[in-house]
Amino acid sequence: MLSREIVLEVKRLLDEDKHSQRQIASLLKVSRGSVNAIANNRRGLHGREPERQLQLFATRPSRCCKCGGYVYAPCLLCRAREYREREARLQKLARRVA
Ligand SMILES: [Zn+2]
Repeated sequence: MLSREIVLEVKRLLDEDKHSQRQIASLLKVSRGSVNAIANNRRGLHGREPERQLQLFATRPSRCCKCGGYVYAPCLLCRAREYREREARLQKLARRVA
């Protein structure tokens, strides 16, 4: 089961219309069947996050071990940063594929 983040990223790349389904599948390391299902709206844009991740939501803020901010775990700032970094990596990869 794919995470929602990956599903949305597949959708985004499909909407960009710059890559083939095969390229998207190999860029994001998902099956071509999954990419195809998302492309044809046979699969909803939902994902199952691992339970471990859900349990990380704390009821009190705590120090983020990465950025040091006082946040509710998981740190959204660090997640956004990781997402941006992955995005940049993907774009670099995509340029190489294109
Ligand atoms: Zn952080």
